[in-house]
Amino acid sequence: MGENLNTQWPIITELDKQRVLECLEEGRLWRGNAKYIFEFEKSFSELHGVDFCLSVTNGTHALELALESLGIGSGDEVLIPAYTFISTATAVLIRNAIPIPVEVCEDTYCINPLRIEEQITSKTKAIIPVHIAGHACDMDEIMKIAGKHNLYIIEDCAHAHGSVYKEKPLGSFGDVGTFSFQASKVMTAGEGGAFITKSKEVWEKASLIFNCGRPMGATYDHLLLSSNYRMSELQAALLLGQIDRLKKQIETRNSNTQFLNKCVKNIDGIRPQQRKEYATVQGYSMYMFRYQKEYFNNLPREMFINYLIDNGIPAFKTYPIFFETSLFDNLKEKYTQFHHYNRDIQYSSDDFPISKKISEEVVWIPHYYLFHDQIDLERTAQIIRKFVEVYD
Ligand SMILES: *Cc1c(COP(=O)(O)O)cnc(C)c1O
Repeated sequence: MGENLNTQWPIITELDKQRVLECLEEGRLWRGNAKYIFEFEKSFSELHGVDFCLSVTNGTHALELALESLGIGSGDEVLIPAYTFISTATAVLIRNAIPIPVEVCEDTYCINPLRIEEQITSKTKAIIPVHIAGHACDMDEIMKIAGKHNLYIIEDCAHAHGSVYKEKPLGSFGDVGTFSFQASKVMTAGEGGAFITKSKEVWEKASLIFNCGRPMGATYDHLLLSSNYRMSELQAALLLGQIDRLKKQIETRNSNTQFLNKCVKNIDGIRPQQRKEYATVQGYSMYMFRYQKEYFNNLPREMFINYLIDNGIPAFKTYPIFFETSLFDNLKEKYTQFHHYNRDIQYSSDDFPISKKISEEVVWIPHYYLFHDQIDLERTAQIIRKFVEVYD
């Protein structure tokens, strides 16, 4: 039992190993004498249809760097989906700005454009759409709202490497797109991240901020107060080959997702994430579905997940609503930006019933499970079907 949990991930080829070894042998470990970092940045920005890319330490820092590069700071409001991984919210808090939740869509789990404008105030500076499991947010609608209210867009693409909205790659709509290469993502160096932009000006600003405020080169004059967000050459050596493999892997995950969707179609209470027509390429950084316990004699989600794991299917519960985590307790005591905040900010999950339902119901299976063959996927559906029988 459980022997399939770590199927084939990460995939590391002979070429990947050769590149890492070459860096070690040549003493090329950091940006200062890098080769692969620059090849990676060129190739990754081409993949996403933009001119500029910075490779960074992780996806969380990429978001922080994005907000900082766009000048978002003290007391500014930033709209984010109520349902997302915590970094989307903490990056805003760390800038002394205020994350304002927006309700998500019931079928795609992505931010609902129809619910954005109700949260806009004179202090709103930006929106961070999160492309959940590589499913594109409705970017035409979001860009329209951003244009009308003069807001920045930062796309959190931590799930969306290589994913596309209509004809255009995700990460290329907004002012900045941010990516993660942490171990669970579809491209990985264990840790790592990327910051992409179409704007030379934003890229130049970010290039300073991510390098201790220091222009690249020999100077010790630091132009502004900031931190160090640089990726290492070894990470780039591991990532470079993954760009070439991405498209084929997405095709495999896509066809296996469609197959698995068919297998679970007639199981009441299992509702996979829906795909809109505009999400023309979805990377499936995870297979997500709602587990509706009322169809399973109210057996709790935790029990269902443990049952899957016992049967060799890796499974996890999804994120809570971001403000339901403990770090959002006692806001006014803990965070200076809330001390003088005039707006009556009361984060309440009652105002976000869809996000609440999704955070309570969604189960996800990691993307590498979608590299299994159809026999395994059919068996997965059978195992799910037997859940109630086994436990009742
Ligand atoms: C993983 C993730 C991040 C953060 O990336 P790290 O590299 O782990 O810091 C941000 N946003 C979302 C939606 C993520 O899933």
